[in-house]
Amino acid sequence: MTKSQAEQIKPITDNNANVLYQHGTLALLVPGLLEGTTTIGELLKHGDTGIGTGEGLDGELIILDGEAYKVGQSGVAERVPDDFTMPFANVHHAAFQYQCERSDIGLKALNNRIVEANGRANTFFSVIVRGTFSFIKTRAVIKQQAPYPTLVEVADRQAMFLRHDVRGTLLGYFSPVMFHGAAVAGFHEHFLSDDRTFGGHVLYAVLDHGKIHSQVFDTLMQHLPVDDPGYRNHDFSKDPIAEAITTAEGDTH
Ligand SMILES: [Zn+2]
Repeated sequence: MTKSQAEQIKPITDNNANVLYQHGTLALLVPGLLEGTTTIGELLKHGDTGIGTGEGLDGELIILDGEAYKVGQSGVAERVPDDFTMPFANVHHAAFQYQCERSDIGLKALNNRIVEANGRANTFFSVIVRGTFSFIKTRAVIKQQAPYPTLVEVADRQAMFLRHDVRGTLLGYFSPVMFHGAAVAGFHEHFLSDDRTFGGHVLYAVLDHGKIHSQVFDTLMQHLPVDDPGYRNHDFSKDPIAEAITTAEGDTH
């Protein structure tokens, strides 16, 4: 290795803006391993921006500027404390690059253009859209109690919310198709209104006007709940991981 090659190799730490930190995987939600195995406080050590879900699928989480909010079955957003626990979350240190400004565009078309314009189908990246949404449809799963059901059983236990003309932030992560299982292939997007009262897991949206920024990751830091007995003892070989994730979390925009 030459000196210049060595200089180009950056140490992998999750303080880097090129690292996506993931706690848990979507695959462990499939058989209902929904125990909270990390906390917001712990997660915030790995980034100031992210999405996730609480213990027992307690709400759709969004973290913006180091502040975590949860949207539960009422559709109303609320701050969550540092000891709030989660089975699954993504987080990163925000260092978004300006991408474009767009008006009157559906979220699916917008997402497709972002992937195509950047040739990023095989790359983890985050997208943040700030602006006014002429229409947005979100959902929140209803909190489940132990013994937990499977992800597919929970898929129809959800509340849906519609809003028109709402200002806010849509934060999403794109995962390459080869990581379907660890994540959901394609986009996973959550929303929080500017007045911090409304949000959820985004099913459909039309952007009236807004600015789009993105951030590309070359490293996935995958953290697993290795001390959780349910996780340690579970046999994943019989679980229909890919199909269940497609059914419950698939790209329905
Ligand atoms: Zn979600």
